[in-house]
Amino acid sequence: MYQSDELFEKRTAVLATMHGKEQVIAPILEKELGIRVVVPPDFDTDRFGTFTGEIERAGTQIEAARLKAQWALELTDQSLAIASEGSFQPHPSCPFIASNLEIVLLLDTRHGIEIAGTALSIETNHSHQIVRSLEEAQEFARQAGFPKHGLIVSAGQRNNQGLSCKGIVSKVALSKAVQDVLAQSPTAFIRTDMRAMYNPTRMKVIAKATHDLATKVRSCCPHCGWPGFDITRRQIGLPCALCLAPTEMVLAVVYECKKCSYRTEQKYPDGEEFADPGRCMFCNP
Ligand SMILES: [Zn+2]
Ligand SMILES: [Zn+2]
Repeated sequence: MYQSDELFEKRTAVLATMHGKEQVIAPILEKELGIRVVVPPDFDTDRFGTFTGEIERAGTQIEAARLKAQWALELTDQSLAIASEGSFQPHPSCPFIASNLEIVLLLDTRHGIEIAGTALSIETNHSHQIVRSLEEAQEFARQAGFPKHGLIVSAGQRNNQGLSCKGIVSKVALSKAVQDVLAQSPTAFIRTDMRAMYNPTRMKVIAKATHDLATKVRSCCPHCGWPGFDITRRQIGLPCALCLAPTEMVLAVVYECKKCSYRTEQKYPDGEEFADPGRCMFCNP
């Protein structure tokens, strides 16, 4: 049997970040997994894509996190890396609500392990607006949780369009940035700065994803003890409580070990044996 403690304990992980994420990620991983976390100096993660659109992100969110982790390992000659990647999109099941999905990835090239913790939250201030006056900008700022949360003011929707000021966290800096842009153009583009160190709300979601990562690392295969024993398949078809027809709700989940391929099925993962008839295509067409 492997022991996840033995695999990770007392090892040093490089954290691929330059946005202060170590403040939340490092203490959680040190406490829960015994991993010491260090940040490589001068690590420029912006080459992998920025929220402000100067550089498009490469591939999917998890691919972007993996690239950052691999890059950190190359730079530092280590074998254990942590990387995080966030995205802001309409909520997958409720498109009128904004949501923030954070991934915190652990990559261990010594043992060939990759485990991703995730957290999806509808608590986000992610937003933007075109303003024509300082008052409008200040109203946007108030609703965006400024000055605890940073702002970006620019002339156009992308940062490479003329004047742009990032990481604004004071009223003086906000006035100056908005007035500078409005002196040159009839409108200014104002948006929330989603970089972690300027966004405590996002930091909380990153912390949640880090806890999820620790939980997944500690979820070990009952057969061989390998970490990251996780759901690989969801089987839909939970029967309707009224007519017993299969619905789109999850009936069972399958956990599978990435090391020895041991599988186990868990029925009724949400603790319910029947689906609400409201989810049934016959009872509620
Ligand atoms: Zn196993
Ligand atoms: Zn039904």
